[in-house]
Amino acid sequence: MLITPSINGTRMLGRLDTFAEIGATADGGVDRQSLTEGDRRARAAITEIALSRGFTVAQDAAANLFIHRRGGHAGTPPLLIGSHLDTQPTGGRFDGALGVLAALEVLESLEDGNIQTAAPIELVVWTNEEGCRFAPGSMGAQAFIDGTLSDTLLASRSTDGLRLADELAATREALPQAHLCTLGKPIAGYIELHIEQAPHLERAGIPIGVVTGVQGTRWLKVSVKGEAGHAGTTPLSARRDPMRAANMGLARLYETIMQTDTDARFTVGRMTVEPGSVNAIPSTVVFYIDIRHPRLKELDAIEAEITVTLHDAATGAGCTIAIERVFDMEPARFDNTLINAIEDVAKARGVASTRMVSGAFHDALFISRVAPTAMIFVPCRDGISHNPREFVDPEFCIIGADILFHTALSVSEMPLAEGNPTIRTTAISNNHKGVGT
Ligand SMILES: [Zn+2]
Repeated sequence: MLITPSINGTRMLGRLDTFAEIGATADGGVDRQSLTEGDRRARAAITEIALSRGFTVAQDAAANLFIHRRGGHAGTPPLLIGSHLDTQPTGGRFDGALGVLAALEVLESLEDGNIQTAAPIELVVWTNEEGCRFAPGSMGAQAFIDGTLSDTLLASRSTDGLRLADELAATREALPQAHLCTLGKPIAGYIELHIEQAPHLERAGIPIGVVTGVQGTRWLKVSVKGEAGHAGTTPLSARRDPMRAANMGLARLYETIMQTDTDARFTVGRMTVEPGSVNAIPSTVVFYIDIRHPRLKELDAIEAEITVTLHDAATGAGCTIAIERVFDMEPARFDNTLINAIEDVAKARGVASTRMVSGAFHDALFISRVAPTAMIFVPCRDGISHNPREFVDPEFCIIGADILFHTALSVSEMPLAEGNPTIRTTAISNNHKGVGT
């Protein structure tokens, strides 16, 4: 072990095993989709532990669960720590659960040590981070910052045909020990421990990632129109072939975007061709481009490059083109004070850390719009997640929880809430519909 942890590592690893049994699949994974029976059992299990330790438990209309440990200063907004307990259908044991159970361990270790923090520290379990049974993902965190759940959303149905409003109500009612609280409230800040879901930390042999933000994502829908024609008889000079236009344009973009900037991501994952005959020049090709970058300026530059390149290719092939932005998630920049606090704690604990940008969405992305937020990553084997093979070395679980403990302790003494907005109740545009994490 690299450190002598300030938390009870054995207890936390035991909890990870216990919770992995809730919704366990035969292949060693976990299927605990949001607002299912398994999710409710996990909520009940953590509530039972919380109440046995004297913490208070509350839930809001979105079924976000809050486990509160009193602070020394009455009326101070709490520092939130936590993650999510729902999983993908082919989920693993650590995605979400590690952040929640490490946060529980932080509260229990504070209690064991009889440590009084200035600000209260509160564990949060966000509802439906994964977005697989109900869309969109990070639904609970989004509702928390909006202060509301829209009627359209409440009327939406799960993949198994149930109404969100009913499933939320049933989930809340299954936990009568938790009192109902308002949706959205002032908080001092939010810190989330999570598995990296990428192989960088493991490859670098570094146990702690200090996450500085989440990269931005845009989806472009590209429609190229030409003219259908006979594959055998139409000479090149008479063709207006949208497939040729798309291929020539995309080939150029594959050569440039990711080659010149290692932070950039460029993916075409869906393409439809009409009429879709083997022996006909297509009339229309529609495809979607997913672009990602940690910085807004670069994201804009990539979109501009795509627009120019594809227009040129379409014109060159005698086609017309329309490009529409159908999804836009701006890059999120986490709070400098919290980033520095995590880094300082890692250094003081003698644990190597590195700054990094998250490639995946997390609840923290949404909370960062209204309160100081940061994330701590720990390595996961081969970067694999959303998979029964998802694995985190027990030592990294313990180190992650230890760094969360010390960061929460240090941050709870800081006047973070001053000058920071309380939770806005005006709706922030919900522009991430249908997108998973
Ligand atoms: Zn997650």
